[in-house]
Amino acid sequence: MSYDAVIVGSGVNSLACAAFLARAGWGVAVLEREDELGGAIRTAELTEPGYLHDVFSAWHPLWVGGPAHAELGDELARHGLEYLNTDLPTATAYPDGEAAFLLRSAEANAAELDRHAPGDGAAWGRMLETFFPNADLAFGVLGTELWSRSGLGLGARAYRRLGRRGAAEFVGELLISSRDWLTETFQSERAHGLLAPWVLHTGLGPDAAASGFMTRVIAVAVQEGGMPIPRGGGARLVDALVSLIRSHGGVVETGRDVEQVLVEGGTASGVRLADGDTIRAERAVIANVTPTQLYDRLLPDGAAAPEIAERGRRFRYGRAEMQIHFALSEPPQWEGDERLGRTAIVHVTPGLDGVSRAVNEADRGLLPVEGTVVVGQPLTMDESRAPEGAGLLWIQLQELPWRVKGDAADELDVGDGTWTEELRERYADRIHARIAKHVRNLDAAVRKRVVLSPADLQAANINLQRGDPYSGSLALDQNFVWRPFPASPGHRTPVDRLWHIGASTHPGPGLGAGSGTLVAKQLLEPALPARALARARSLVGR
Ligand SMILES: Cc1cc2nc3c(=O)[nH]c(=O)nc-3n(C[C@H](O)[C@H](O)[C@H](O)COP(=O)(O)OP(=O)(O)OC[C@H]3O[C@@H](n4cnc5c(N)ncnc54)[C@H](O)[C@@H]3O)c2cc1C
Repeated sequence: MSYDAVIVGSGVNSLACAAFLARAGWGVAVLEREDELGGAIRTAELTEPGYLHDVFSAWHPLWVGGPAHAELGDELARHGLEYLNTDLPTATAYPDGEAAFLLRSAEANAAELDRHAPGDGAAWGRMLETFFPNADLAFGVLGTELWSRSGLGLGARAYRRLGRRGAAEFVGELLISSRDWLTETFQSERAHGLLAPWVLHTGLGPDAAASGFMTRVIAVAVQEGGMPIPRGGGARLVDALVSLIRSHGGVVETGRDVEQVLVEGGTASGVRLADGDTIRAERAVIANVTPTQLYDRLLPDGAAAPEIAERGRRFRYGRAEMQIHFALSEPPQWEGDERLGRTAIVHVTPGLDGVSRAVNEADRGLLPVEGTVVVGQPLTMDESRAPEGAGLLWIQLQELPWRVKGDAADELDVGDGTWTEELRERYADRIHARIAKHVRNLDAAVRKRVVLSPADLQAANINLQRGDPYSGSLALDQNFVWRPFPASPGHRTPVDRLWHIGASTHPGPGLGAGSGTLVAKQLLEPALPARALARARSLVGR
């Protein structure tokens, strides 16, 4: 068997990459080791028949706002993909019953922030005024192959527009922490608590370098783009991508565990599967894996310089996470502001300091006293996901240790520190009780609860090492131009024609399909002589 490109794994980055290549006439094969396609995208009747849960990821603003959707969106719609959206994308519910909302227009957000502290609305306006003129640079950082000529081009654009001092200031602003940016910008702790939890969704905490930049990017992206989800569940995106790939002659297979990348004379020539099959790749092998797997398992000894292989093996993972899925007999009834029941994602937290404390506890190996609870309510947009009149909640907890040293609340016996069924359920009970303080009918309405611990996440997807939903710490030394790791940044690898994509690589995790798109674009770029010819032709006007 032989294809132009063999893609290892079927995550969103793989599927977007395969879609671009297949549309351009390449013969592609996507090989997935699990029985289901989509990696961290899966929709299943996990609790009871009729309840469609997004088992892992659920919210698609990064996909809808990303480069792959911009190009493939119309064709995917013809393959059955439809997006739904909301005017109430997110809010924070505080322990005292108060709530703060992030809404869909600059005016609405200014009014909402002024409600909590007069003057914060104007601060929001000033933030937008400074952000928008350079939004292309900010989003460019996340949408450019930084370790390449394009990356240099982005730097040059910033320099031309902003001057030396302005460019230095811009880069400096990229590095500020969320805490420093929030407390410098807004007076109200409600505003801080509204935005701080969002840095968790970028794998950071509010005190981490660059988390202030990510807070601004997300705040603007949510205001402008809302919180889109596909009708019928996240897996409809996978279905549409697979259908598009197959319609262009591409092959997508499950139960195909790639065990080695074949390397001949320093060039990747194909893959060998665990069942012994070999598949040749004439132009590229594209691996959507962690550096750990790439350098520990897939590459034969000697394919990469020992120091690079060693750095790859030492790639660091971030905090672990847990998912809780509730099937409810009726919609949740929130205390306080009635809009909470209509909001897609509600964070339950004491605020900025609450998020910071929980992150710190998890980093120290402890179960947090008051972990930030992400309460997702997909039925606010898509009623088709549950029986009529029922309720469904998607809960995410992003501040957990992989090895549990203790309980910051001093309540739970953590045993030997592994995620046993008992520890998983008892910690879920703590979260359940916290949500029940805000959702008065929770206990009465629960029909079934299914919890996935960090160990369950790792077992479900080899890329979710140590239960890290983002496939690698996003601390500054493993982020942006340094992702996946400084000794081998970007998507090229030490092996010719072997490309590295996925959440472990730039621009990191999320459903934007950034790395798959960046690699497809580079593969489809005409070779240098053809580019030079095209440029010469354009200069002479032909
Ligand atoms: C619980 C959870 C919730 C999340 N929520 C959101 C959200 O709401 N919105 C958002 O934007 N992002 C979210 N994320 C992050 C986002 O889902 C991921 O970053 C993204 O889906 C990763 O896509 P990927 O292409 O990197 O690969 P993955 O989705 O990780 O898929 C990789 C695939 O490759 C396969 N594979 C690996 N090695 C091999 C091999 N050797 N042979 C064959 N197959 C192999 C794996 O089995 C897997 O299926 C969430 C993540 C998790 C875990």
